[in-house]
Amino acid sequence: MRRYEDTYKQKGLRRQLVDSIRQKGITDENVLAAIGNIPRHFFLDTAFEGIAYEDRAFPIGEGQTISQPYTVAYQTQLLEIKPYEKVLEIGTGSAYQACVLAELKANVFTIERQKRLFDHVKQFQFKSKYPNLRCFYGDGYEGLPSYAPFDKILVTAAAPAIPEKLLQQLKVGGKMVIPVGGQDVQRMLRITKINDTDFDQELFDNFTFVPMLSGKR
Ligand code: SAH
Repeated sequence: MRRYEDTYKQKGLRRQLVDSIRQKGITDENVLAAIGNIPRHFFLDTAFEGIAYEDRAFPIGEGQTISQPYTVAYQTQLLEIKPYEKVLEIGTGSAYQACVLAELKANVFTIERQKRLFDHVKQFQFKSKYPNLRCFYGDGYEGLPSYAPFDKILVTAAAPAIPEKLLQQLKVGGKMVIPVGGQDVQRMLRITKINDTDFDQELFDNFTFVPMLSGKR
């Protein structure tokens, strides 16, 4: 069994990572503190331990990646999380982003479509630090109708278009952050639900995510 240790060296590297994300324009101190509190190297294969605090994405198996910390901070900042809000995340991956949301005291529901990644996260010890985090195996395009509506929805894979069912599962006044576009580049959008039929849309920067695919595997 793997032993998880958070050394002074890793804590120091993490502080530098937080500083670099701040310099890139992230201003929400709660988000920065959450990144500072979570040992990102726990979420990676031991082969990446030495470089876990570089501000870049890394492979986590099954052709998927853990997002770049700047991107995690960027999406989380746009969500404007308040304690006890119900948040749905699409694309659990390593569960790093889900733990950042849980660290902000949100009530987190996260869905992964790849069984092997889901099973890996299920037995990941660190996650038990967050009783407010629940993981589901399923297709994010379907959302989680039995737990809807949500205050916030976060999509961490590239969506070709805004999934209709996710809009339905958002509370009135709720917000969804989602990268929308083609394979190579996506535009970060923040959608606010005005009422059951009207939505406001704000445009942010360009990013590149792995694709949001339909169905389970
Ligand atoms: N949030 C993750 C990053 C994940 S990368 C982290 O912090 O590590 C995107 C993830 O979305 C991948 O694991 C991919 O398998 C998953 N994914 C893609 N399409 C999906 C869908 N329709 N439903 C659920 N998960 C999906």
